[in-house]
Amino acid sequence: MRGFCPCFHSLAKVQRLAGWLCYFSIMRILIVEDEKPVAGFLQKSFEAEHYEVDVALDGRQALALLGERQYNLVVLDLNLPEISGLEVLKSVRTRSQGLPVLALTSRREVEERVKALDLGADDYLPKPFAFSELAARTRALLRRSGAPVDVILRVEDLEFNRVERQVRRGEKPIELTPKELAPLEFLMQNAGQCVTRAMILDQGWKLSVDTMTNVVDVYINHLRKKIDEGFGVPLIHTIRGSGYWMGRKEASPQADQSKGENGESDPPQNRQNPLPV
Ligand code: CA
Repeated sequence: MRGFCPCFHSLAKVQRLAGWLCYFSIMRILIVEDEKPVAGFLQKSFEAEHYEVDVALDGRQALALLGERQYNLVVLDLNLPEISGLEVLKSVRTRSQGLPVLALTSRREVEERVKALDLGADDYLPKPFAFSELAARTRALLRRSGAPVDVILRVEDLEFNRVERQVRRGEKPIELTPKELAPLEFLMQNAGQCVTRAMILDQGWKLSVDTMTNVVDVYINHLRKKIDEGFGVPLIHTIRGSGYWMGRKEASPQADQSKGENGESDPPQNRQNPLPV
């Protein structure tokens, strides 16, 4: 039986809601590309960068999806069968002036690129291209289009860029694995509140609460070493028997005052079975 966390029951509902809000703040990209291998590659690559991705294999599908869902950006191949990319672009611009569109163009067709820009494309990239360049241009367009306020999470001098998946404390960049980024993001979203191990498993990692709860402690220890060691103010605190709390220690009357700031309060058995990174 876990210890008492006074805010747990009502907080659990709030956390569920926060999880949904977090979902809706994720950047959603529509890829319009008729070449299936290219579309599949782009989808996987963007998903690995933590975007929500839909794929339309022709202009008709693209227009249908644009009518049904909200997107933060469209990656639009101009060379499409039936309804051309330029026609799709025209239609996008009649519906939304602000939706960023990045056109994928033929390297040789200068006229096509000029026409795309004239019709309202925000940027273009000639094929073939490196995904790293497409990803960088995508980030730049999203920044220019006005990213949601919660793209950057801040707790004291710790900063988490949720689009670029980069973390820094003060001026120092901190390298974290994807499995470390997820619980940190969840803790920062809920800074100042008690967060249980089950919440981190369920909402941070989307894993079953019945398994591997001890693994959370392993990763919190990893995070402490990277986020707190060598900095004056520890930010990750243990609520004994309940979970964790993020912020300045003096602001939390519940934080374990005797242990936990360097991970020593975590039982030895909790340092087993780390997840693959
Ligand atoms: Ca094509």
